[in-house]
Amino acid sequence: MEDSRYQKLHKHFLIIMLVVTVLILILLVLQYYMLIAVDTRYADITREFYMKNYVLIPTVIYTASYIVVWQMLDSPNIKSQWKDFATILYMWVLCTVVCFVGAESPVLYGSFAVPISLSTVYVRRWMCRVTEGLCLVTCAQYVGTAQLLPTCGDSIIVDVCTGMALLLLCCLCNEILMEYALENDGVILSHVSDNTRLEMRLQRDPMTGLYNHTAFYEYLDSLVRNRGEAPLTLAVVDIDDFKKVNDTYGHNMGDEVILNLSRVLQKWCGDSNYVCRYGGEEFSVIFPNVKVKDAAGMMNHALEEFRETEYEWLDGRITFSCGIFQMSSYTMTAEDFFKVADKMLYNAKHNGKNQCVSG
Ligand code: GH3
Ligand code: MG
Ligand code: MG
Repeated sequence: MEDSRYQKLHKHFLIIMLVVTVLILILLVLQYYMLIAVDTRYADITREFYMKNYVLIPTVIYTASYIVVWQMLDSPNIKSQWKDFATILYMWVLCTVVCFVGAESPVLYGSFAVPISLSTVYVRRWMCRVTEGLCLVTCAQYVGTAQLLPTCGDSIIVDVCTGMALLLLCCLCNEILMEYALENDGVILSHVSDNTRLEMRLQRDPMTGLYNHTAFYEYLDSLVRNRGEAPLTLAVVDIDDFKKVNDTYGHNMGDEVILNLSRVLQKWCGDSNYVCRYGGEEFSVIFPNVKVKDAAGMMNHALEEFRETEYEWLDGRITFSCGIFQMSSYTMTAEDFFKVADKMLYNAKHNGKNQCVSG
């Protein structure tokens, strides 16, 4: 749902940029044959020099950064904020190379507006500031280089100054949009309309902010139906002897434990997986593209941290039990899948609680 939308958004940006870069490379090759090779003013530029510096090196940089970012987007272990930032950095790399190869066309400096604007979409102040700084510094460096060019006349200085001024304007708009987005709960990216906003609220548990029972089943169902070759794993968690906690220390202390478990699960299961509050003190985590062994590793880390948590009001430890199962058959429904993971949870309880059982 929300995570896969983010993923799609990133990939759309990357594909658009790939198309743009391929077009630029074609233009650069055309430029050589239609201008550089025939115009005597460029007689000192050999074909080898041009092709190496203006076509080959940029192609290597574009391709390498594209592969790195695409791999990052597919990795379940990388937090979504780093995926966001990688997409922005990728665009910054492209703009930097574009400005380098087109050093005499200050209009290209305007391309830095793309990463700057994109950083606003992700609604994180640090990301905006770092992107703005990076783009402005790179651009200023090009402006400096342009002014040093012996061929540089007054008109190019006016052009580069105009370009810089427009970029500064873009940063200013960025800051205003950013403030607006932060005040309005990330309105730019996640909520296009009131209906979408309402839909998002209906999918969240108000106490922990995790996905609720409805969202859990919707997502699990859609993943099961559209399943390809990739592994799909589910973990079901239940706090051990939780009734005793409530009865002995009160409901508010019980809530504190629930909130702690929600934090621990989010921390260890990462942004790419789907942590839900399935019911009262029962949680579930859907792991798309994760094998049972890796999911068990994350859940055991979560259990360890949860078990080690000290509560001011408690002289002892609280634990949970967990069942983990990787989907094995293509004919399984979401309900069957959940039932098997729940059976693993039952086994964990039966074996003495405070453990993860996987199958
Ligand atoms: P087991 O180890 O077998 O799981 O034993 P248990 O005592 O944990 O039993 P069970 O899972 O059935 O306990 C569920 C309890 O969780 C009962 C209910 O009072 C409590 N509970 C459910 N939702 C909340 C909540 O939002 N806050 C608090 N404080 N307690 C809740
Ligand atoms: Mg229970
Ligand atoms: Mg319980």
